[in-house]
Amino acid sequence: MSKSHIRLNKTTREWVIYAPSRQKRPQDFKQINLEESDSHYCPFCPENEDHLEPVILELPNPIKQGWQTRVVENKYPVLTPDTHPNRKMNGIYVTMMGYGQHEVIIESPHHNQDIATMPLKAVETVLETYHQRYLELMTAHENMMIIIFRNHGKKAGASLKHPHSQIIMTGIVPQHIRLREREAQRYYDQWARCLYCDMLYFELHTETRIITENHSFVCFVPFAAEVPFEMWIIPKEHQADFGSISSRQKADLALILKDALGRLYRKLNNPDYNYVINTAARYKAEEPQVHWYLQIRPRLTTPAGFEIGSGMNINPSIPELDAKFLRS
Ligand SMILES: [Zn+2]
Ligand SMILES: [Zn+2]
Repeated sequence: MSKSHIRLNKTTREWVIYAPSRQKRPQDFKQINLEESDSHYCPFCPENEDHLEPVILELPNPIKQGWQTRVVENKYPVLTPDTHPNRKMNGIYVTMMGYGQHEVIIESPHHNQDIATMPLKAVETVLETYHQRYLELMTAHENMMIIIFRNHGKKAGASLKHPHSQIIMTGIVPQHIRLREREAQRYYDQWARCLYCDMLYFELHTETRIITENHSFVCFVPFAAEVPFEMWIIPKEHQADFGSISSRQKADLALILKDALGRLYRKLNNPDYNYVINTAARYKAEEPQVHWYLQIRPRLTTPAGFEIGSGMNINPSIPELDAKFLRS
């Protein structure tokens, strides 16, 4: 298998990953219909373990016998741990090896289940799996950033119907995350408070963009939502790092995540979406100005020429009306 490598775009300081192993994905070459995908050939279904990568972690079903979640290496990894995150010059350019890790979290033994419809205890186990892998991957010094994400539906990039999430760990902190952390730092330097805690206070005070809340979390449509029905789920108490989440918070996160995705499922007829846990890069994990959150982005619009040229999104819907619709 040819290895990944990463190149720095000198003009923007954005990193680009080149992952030749993913060229071989058969699904890249044919149109797939996820709804009709057959559990008979699904590598994540029980009985098809012959086609499954070795299991890294397995958590039991909290209600009945058998497993609930399994973590395996991605068969077509974007990045691999068997190299180093060292950088080198290539003429005027900077490159590095494709150091990192790419895992799949199989969320259920059932091919047709989904977070919006699975039992609450099962969602808690999915979050427990995220947490355990996050803590384990963060132990190595080279591991700078972990992105936990879920692609739901073909427009969101899913290539298998069986419910699953993914984790990618990298040896770099990209510009996108540095910018967010820099802005948070600037706000903290100016006001001596966390920007996200202040946003949360304002949102809870004005209420117009709030969808739902519980003891530990608030779900709202952000003021400058980039796409229709974008939602953020954010801890009420200041917390920089997803790794610091408590047992109580995990139970409350399961409740509000299932609720938020259930609203999309019922009110918008199960749209494709991505969700991502935006958490502190390693060297910011304990800081007072960074605040983690889970971001849900439904795939209802397609970025076009203007978005590519300007970096600005055109959102055809209004955040306050989206929140009202999802809240009702
Ligand atoms: Zn399956
Ligand atoms: Zn905060």
